[in-house]
Amino acid sequence: TSGTTKYIYDLSEGDLSMKPLLGGKGANLSEMIKLGVPVPDGFTVTTEACVDTMNNGGEWPADLWGQVTDALARFEERVDRRLGDAEKPLLVSVRSGAVISMPGMMDTILNLGISDETVGSLAAEFGERFAWDTYRRFIQMYGDVVEGVPHHAYEDALTALKAERGVENDPDLTAEDLKGLVETFKQVSREHMGEEFPTDPKEQLKRAVNAVFASWDTPRAGIYRKSQGIPDDLGTAVNVMQMVFGNRGETSATGVCFTRNPSTGAKELYGEFLLNAQGEDVVAGIRTPKPLAEMESVLPEAYAQLLDTMNRLEEHNGDMQDIEFTVEDGKLFLLQTRNGKRTAPAAFKIAVDMVTEGKLDKAGALKRIEPAQLDQLLHPAIDLSHGKTPVTKGLNASPGAAVGEVVFDAETAAERGKAGDRVVLVRWETTPDDIAGVIVAQGVLTAHGGMTSHAAVVARGMGKPCVAGASKIKIDAEAKTLTIGESVLREGDMITLDGTTGEVYAEALDLVPPQLNDDFQTIVGWADEIRRMDVRANADTGADAAKAREFGAQGIGLCRTEHMFMEADRLPAVRKMILAESDEARTQALAEILPLQQEDFEAIFDAMTGLPVTVRLLDPPMHEFLPNLVDQSLLVQRLELEGRGEDDAELAEARTLLAQVKKLTEQNPMLGTRGVRLALLYPEIPAMQTRAIVRAALASKARGSEPQVEIMVPLVAFAEELKRMRAIIEETIAEELQAAGESMDFPVGTMIELPRAAVTADQIAEHADFFSFGTNDLTQTGVGISRDDAEGAFLAHYIDEEIVEGNPFGSIDRDGVGGLVGIGAEKGRSTHADLKLGVCGEHGGDPASISLFEELGLNYVSCSPYRVPIARFAAARAVL
Ligand code: ADP
Ligand code: MG
Ligand code: MG
Repeated sequence: TSGTTKYIYDLSEGDLSMKPLLGGKGANLSEMIKLGVPVPDGFTVTTEACVDTMNNGGEWPADLWGQVTDALARFEERVDRRLGDAEKPLLVSVRSGAVISMPGMMDTILNLGISDETVGSLAAEFGERFAWDTYRRFIQMYGDVVEGVPHHAYEDALTALKAERGVENDPDLTAEDLKGLVETFKQVSREHMGEEFPTDPKEQLKRAVNAVFASWDTPRAGIYRKSQGIPDDLGTAVNVMQMVFGNRGETSATGVCFTRNPSTGAKELYGEFLLNAQGEDVVAGIRTPKPLAEMESVLPEAYAQLLDTMNRLEEHNGDMQDIEFTVEDGKLFLLQTRNGKRTAPAAFKIAVDMVTEGKLDKAGALKRIEPAQLDQLLHPAIDLSHGKTPVTKGLNASPGAAVGEVVFDAETAAERGKAGDRVVLVRWETTPDDIAGVIVAQGVLTAHGGMTSHAAVVARGMGKPCVAGASKIKIDAEAKTLTIGESVLREGDMITLDGTTGEVYAEALDLVPPQLNDDFQTIVGWADEIRRMDVRANADTGADAAKAREFGAQGIGLCRTEHMFMEADRLPAVRKMILAESDEARTQALAEILPLQQEDFEAIFDAMTGLPVTVRLLDPPMHEFLPNLVDQSLLVQRLELEGRGEDDAELAEARTLLAQVKKLTEQNPMLGTRGVRLALLYPEIPAMQTRAIVRAALASKARGSEPQVEIMVPLVAFAEELKRMRAIIEETIAEELQAAGESMDFPVGTMIELPRAAVTADQIAEHADFFSFGTNDLTQTGVGISRDDAEGAFLAHYIDEEIVEGNPFGSIDRDGVGGLVGIGAEKGRSTHADLKLGVCGEHGGDPASISLFEELGLNYVSCSPYRVPIARFAAARAVL
């Protein structure tokens, strides 16, 4: 970037629209200043400065320091205090501020500007004890964050001092004690740094800004970004602000509040504060704070002003706010506001309530909800009929139930969780460094900290059950024991957390599936008004079809007929068909299967009356209906070893089957004789299926249902395949309709699930009434990775190492497989303008993939019945 880039904005210069440049914190602070909310003065170093520094191997852009000192000079002028000035010193905080909030993941330094030079005048102005307390806080935070001195080195010194003085709490230390502690802290710093603690505040400021830049790149921040899908190249802004002091005695305080309850969404007072404390004390969960309501009696004016400001900020931002504030000697300051993280049920309630209150429109409400939150609503809860007694109760910090084995450290949790074990992380309190363990744990239990502690905030954001501040539990992290009253749990013992009530059980309880509530239904209903694409379901039985309809499916996009073949009571007839030596024998066997298939179809057509049902003809390779080669070989061998004679019927049968299995076994069955290939080899099979479909449709119609059946041919690669298959299908339909003296439409289409089909879709479309992109197989064949093997083999490694962005079977590979869908859609429509286009497979229920399908202008997506509400919602989000 050129030397003229503006890297710094005074807080009064920015606004919310500048979030990408100023970060969320900075942009919101600027916006608050515009609204006239009391915010300390300061300036923001842009994310661009951070990115340029990162791209420059950690070197600052040439004129960045010059711009910082200019901004600082303006700032000092405005507040009439100077950094490092012995008479009127300015103290600042140096705060990280990412574009997308990453609570607690990056670093912030408070009280910068206090030094041997300035501590005296601060003592004269605000009191001895305050000055020395602030000084020791600064050394501790600066040393830890900027100079890499281990946090515990300071904590140990503090603990030792308290023991020496015979006091329990920090506030019981005298000014004299704290003054001594400052010397000790300097000593501790020196030992770890191998150099003198820097005393020039400007030098400290430079290093602090740099440390905040660098905190973008810490492992924990990286892990958090990965878990939340936040890009790694955004960088953080840095906010330099005047300190306001919540630790100036009993008329000062600091706190955190939400404009609505982030657990339930209820519109009620929700927050915590600590008298005579500094910001970090609340969020770090070091002291357990008091409920916000209690602030009314101790700081009535600031309290009233805070409530009023909370309302204004929520109204202005059109969303629930998460606010940090400090009261300095009775005067209120806002230090941060952002759209608050919330649980899924809360997200729905808040969105619906705010529309009712006229603060949001329906589209705005949908945007306030993340598709993942619909998933969370579908999570299990504790079976209330358990009748078990909890062993203790903490704060219900994040709802939902978690069952798993106790683990005491984040590393073990991360390791075991990744291996697929269900673990519950039990900690005294969590720190941002525990993030890797929290991500994979079923839930989190902490002994300490409040509703706004780190563990609580992070867990709520991830939809993870959390019980916080369970103060009666005793954790011995060394011995790995958790003592709750009488019971002692060790690592590996089962525990259950009820994050909804805060209750803890020293055993594994049963869970029940959750019930979708009214808010959920309302939101999904609004999504229906907004979305363009239809949402169908994949269903193979009448019962599934009925369930899909209940969830709002507008038809069936994929009815797989092989499941009907695999039912145990049908397998003998199916095997007879496969083993048939002649066409007649096969036709004979098929005749036995036909009425069974017809029965299944009737149930589905009845359940879906009035809505389209796409029936896919038989897809898998034949050997899937036979025993596997090894088992059958062993059976033959066993019978032979038993000494069965050549005339033994069982042995003969086993041998025949083995021969057939050998004949049908293929090296790459997924690329073998299946789908349309099999159907062209044995046209009796698709003919039988077509007959069953037509007869079922006619029977269904006769009963008063309105069947709308589409017939789909799988695994087409060549237009000629579809042309021939269509001829067989149409001939059969004509025969059946003629015999019944009826007429009915049966559109015929194909799956597009091979790259060749996508690339030649213009040719194929000439024989198709519709396409359905089978993105599972299209991923397998397009990327060339096996659906059945890859996930356990190299794919996990690829995802860990970020060689690929994610699992392409979960979320569509946009550029590659998505590109093939795009080509298929475009080419298909080029020769067949009103070709109907859909998607079936896992991607049809995945929000990120759905957004691509919307871009490509497909007509519908189809997914499993339980994902239908998510798809309805995601399809609406995709058009917003
Ligand atoms: P995080 O992003 O981890 O929340 P912040 O930058 O918000 O970090 O800082 C943490 C805490 O420090 C805040 O909650 C706030 O209370 C306190 N703090 C930050 N800047 C100031 C300031 N200028 N004056 C007083 N307290 C501050
Ligand atoms: Mg904060
Ligand atoms: Mg397929």
